[in-house]
Order: sequence, then structure tokens, then C-alpha cells
Amino acid sequence: MTTDLIAAVDTAKRAVRAASRLCMQVADRGTARLEKGGREPVTLADYGSQAVILGLISAEFPGHAVLAEEGAAHLLDHSDGGIRSDLAALVATVTGGACTIDDLLARIDHAGGEGLLVWAVDPIDGTKGFLRGDQFAVAVGLLEGARPVAGVLGCPRLSIGETSGVLVWGGPGVGAFVEPIAGGDARSIRVSEVADPAGVRVLGSVETSHGDPAIIERAVAAAGLGGGWMRIDSQAKYAAVAAGLAETYIRPRNRKDWRERAWDHAAGAAIVAGAGGRVTDLDGRDLDFSAGATLENNRGVLATNGLVHDLMLEVLG
Ligand code: AMP
Ligand code: MG
Repeated sequence: MTTDLIAAVDTAKRAVRAASRLCMQVADRGTARLEKGGREPVTLADYGSQAVILGLISAEFPGHAVLAEEGAAHLLDHSDGGIRSDLAALVATVTGGACTIDDLLARIDHAGGEGLLVWAVDPIDGTKGFLRGDQFAVAVGLLEGARPVAGVLGCPRLSIGETSGVLVWGGPGVGAFVEPIAGGDARSIRVSEVADPAGVRVLGSVETSHGDPAIIERAVAAAGLGGGWMRIDSQAKYAAVAAGLAETYIRPRNRKDWRERAWDHAAGAAIVAGAGGRVTDLDGRDLDFSAGATLENNRGVLATNGLVHDLMLEVLG
């Protein structure tokens, strides 16, 4: 890792930890869902988490570019001064610094400059899972040109080994690591060594609209996979593949015109690569992050332990 990347990963880890803390505090209070006009749901925690993460990026890497899911305009339209003031106070608490309402809005909308690294931020990936009490992830990926070079995922409700509530991070050439999200020592993780289809475990989205389960079930049958398939929300799927809890994550497209979002994949793809796995689209092409917020040149996503990648491409082709 270059000195700049080491420093960026350190910032990303601190940001994801503080943002995850904020999310769990909002969840404990009873999650405040805000209407998002028939699209994906959004909560106060999405905005608070984004303010925490972009606040740290703008303070420590003001020149780097940022791609992030939320914008302050919607928060302004769907909250009153009291709610915004509470949220600013929560951001101040988890970051240990001051945060006025103006700071809150400015941090949410921080777009950065033209730096070499691009930060792809999903303040709550899997908001539906977050609302259901299921998996969600706070995701920060670091992109250099078309490629993810490092990623950090906060998964407060995911267990890896004996660690409940995990911070998972890594990247190609860096390795992959898990730490307790509350703080503690890091240990190295690797993808599973299972190559026999009879033992291959599959992950897909809970939301049918994010990846047609019928396509996954056909692929499982065609490849003769016998390890079972589980539906979980968010990039916790990438974390599970990286830690050897499953061999493959399949994300078929549900609509021909759907393009995957950079912040839904940058962190997870970097971590799986760091753990020794492989990530491509369903045509076997590398994920191409060069177009900004959307992966214009890819069809769906396939993340595996590497050993079963070609088999999965064959049955999904
Ligand atoms: P997951 O929890 O894996 O189902 O993915 C959650 C993410 O799916 C959200 O952050 C959205 O950006 C993304 N998403 C929204 N609509 C779609 C869609 N039609 N197809 C695929 N992903 C979508
Ligand atoms: Mg997302």
C-alpha cells in the first residue's frame, strides 16, 4: 500500500466505526424512516452516517473525490429543525467534535475535488435490512481509476467466528482482516477452499427486485451446488464470502436497464479480492468503476472464492 492509501484506510476505518455506532444508536431509539418518493427507503441514520463519514473525509482528505448515495436536499424536505438538531447532536457525540445543523448539511453534501483516490460511500447499504433488524453495512470503498483498491465494511449485526459485530477491511495486495466493531485486535481472513460443488454455499439479496431469486435457483441447480443458499441484505454478503462463510454471491440483474451503483460494490469487491477471491460481472468482465456512480459496463455481479468462479460463470452465462 502507498502511504496515501494506508492513511486513507485508517480514516475509512475510523469513519465506518463511528458511523456504525450512530446507526445502532438510531436503531435502538426506534428507527426514523423518511419517505423517499416510492424509491428505496431512507432513514435519519443514512444521513447521520453519511455526515460522519464525509465529515472525516473532508477534514483529512479535502481534495479527494467522493461518490455518496444521499444528498441533504431530501433531508431538508422531510425533517423539521428539531429532528435536524437531534441528528447533528448525534453526529457530534459519535465523532467527539462539534456539529451544527449547517455542518451536518455541508458534510452530507461534501463532494471533494479531483484527487487520485475516489471514495465510494454507502452510509447504510441494505436500508431495508437495517429497518427489519437484519443485516446492513456501512460501506467505504476506495477507487483508483476503474479499480477498487481498498474497502472497509461495518456490519454491526454480522458474526464472523466468535466476533459479533464486525469491521471487515482489505484490498488486493493488502489482504483482508476482521476486527470487533467495538474495537480490538485484527485477524486475517481468507476465502473458503471449498471447490466441490456439493459443498458450495450461495448468497443472494433478500429483495427480489435486487436480484431475481429464480435465476439464482436455476444456477444452483445447473451447477449442482449442495451447500444451500441464503438471502441476506447488503455488502455483508461480500464480507461473508471474504471470511469463508460462503463460496459465492450471485447478483443477477432484475431489469435490463439496471446499472449497479459504485457504492454498493466498491468496498466489498476490494475486500473479497484481498481475501483471495474473485469478483466480476456475470459475463466474467472486471467491475469497471471508471464511469462514476454507476457501473455502466457491467451486467450484474459475481463474487466467489475464485475456485468456483468459472463454473458459476458457465451456468450464469
Ligand atoms: P442488497 O441489500 O444486496 O439487496 O442491496 C441493496 C442495494 O440495492 C441498495 O443500496 C440499492 O442501491 C440497490 N438497488 C436498488 N434497486 C436495485 C435494483 N433494481 N437492482 C439491484 N440493486 C438495486
Ligand atoms: Mg446500498
